[in-house]
Amino acid sequence: MALKVLLINPPRFEGISVIREERCEITERYSVLEPYSLLQTAALLRKAGHQVGLVDLNGRELGYDALEDEVQRFRPDAVVYRFTPTTFDWDQRTASTVKGVDRSITTAGICWTLHTMPKQVLGEAPDQDFYVRQDYETVTPALIDALANGSPLGNVAGIAYREGSEIKVTGPSVPLKNYDSLPLPAYDLLPDLKPYYVTAPAGRPFTILYTSKGCPYKCSFCTVAGTPWKMRTAPHILEELRYLKEHFGLRTASFFDETFTFNRKRVEEICRSLIDEDLRIKWYCNTRAHLVDGELLGLMRKAGCRGISFGIESGSQRILDTVEKHVTVQQAKDAVLAAKAHRLKVLCSFIFGLPGEDWESVEETLKFVRETLPTSAQFNVAVPYPGTRLHEQIYGVSGLEEPDFRKMYQHASVVGTEKLTPEDLDKARKMAYKTLYSSGRWWASNIKHLVREPSDLYLATRYALKITNNYVFHGMKDAH
Ligand code: SF4
Repeated sequence: MALKVLLINPPRFEGISVIREERCEITERYSVLEPYSLLQTAALLRKAGHQVGLVDLNGRELGYDALEDEVQRFRPDAVVYRFTPTTFDWDQRTASTVKGVDRSITTAGICWTLHTMPKQVLGEAPDQDFYVRQDYETVTPALIDALANGSPLGNVAGIAYREGSEIKVTGPSVPLKNYDSLPLPAYDLLPDLKPYYVTAPAGRPFTILYTSKGCPYKCSFCTVAGTPWKMRTAPHILEELRYLKEHFGLRTASFFDETFTFNRKRVEEICRSLIDEDLRIKWYCNTRAHLVDGELLGLMRKAGCRGISFGIESGSQRILDTVEKHVTVQQAKDAVLAAKAHRLKVLCSFIFGLPGEDWESVEETLKFVRETLPTSAQFNVAVPYPGTRLHEQIYGVSGLEEPDFRKMYQHASVVGTEKLTPEDLDKARKMAYKTLYSSGRWWASNIKHLVREPSDLYLATRYALKITNNYVFHGMKDAH
């Protein structure tokens, strides 16, 4: 039997756009992303024979009244939506809105960050019937198939659900083995790509996409540490980009992978294919600093790469070693400077408040910033997300009371270190932004970049306005 399934990206939270994508489940004032994982899920459900619809309330700036209308119109058997820890209660209104129309509609929510606390999630979300807590690519189709066929739910790995007054949690899911087996995301369910951009509305039409997923590294603070790395090959990625170019006139893509350059040979193949095909798409990626060098960055630039994001975390080797980053400060410096030399915009992200942080290590990070002057930076505070080693280190032995997961956001500390209080860490974060934004050399370096890359002028202007607005009016909250 086939089911009618409606995929839902919930509305913005207090008017602020929300990113609900696996490791990145945050409010983000200056970015609007299409619900990529829901587009993938829709394509997989369609392939399995189900009838699908999709509504992106966040992207289209619609509220729960629009969802109610859509549910009345589409009359789904089941809905699948995403939620995040900090917007938890707001996102759960999706389930209550759906149940308000018809209680017999099954509601399933996806969230990665809370995957180690399924009982708490369902315990606090009375209208959510199922929690898809891992590997949505394999788990959601298995769940919908089980519902369609009436097969035992206990056999669906990677979920939590209610049975009477009990919450049942099934065993770990099996990740998708062949990432190339994924069908093209169901982009046809979006009217267009107009609402979507990262950081500033420039370079549109824009999309994110995963060319690989997972990260085998073991950074102690990271929610995806040690997850199996799965990758798509160059032809499969090119097929998606070609489709986007033909149907939407795509100009910019952000490869959302955790470590895009994990496999050098694959990156070289992607770059060569992009050069050969000359799709004229500018793209951005994230990776680790020790996984690039001048030669690779040069090839990436030639293939359309215009920006790269590195998780630097700290300018202190002591802190990097403590969190098992397995990158040296020198490697990080070399990577930032090499990327800038290849005219790539460089976004560096840092974390204050990792174990052992003191004013000395904060100063080392500020020194790193002054020496490398990345094009832009995110200064976050450490968040002991459930399931991470950092969480174990802080709450496993200290007996400290755990904060409400709704308060876990990287712009406000919930916990300090031995030497620094949460207030100190928030102060360090502000000091770091000030160090970068008040640097005359930083402004000069970015103006020099603009002279060499005049096509970035619009983006740079929007970015400068964003910084001013965010720094002056919002205290760098809900934004990077
Ligand atoms: S390299 Fe990045 S994605 Fe991988 S574990 Fe470390 S922080 Fe997480």
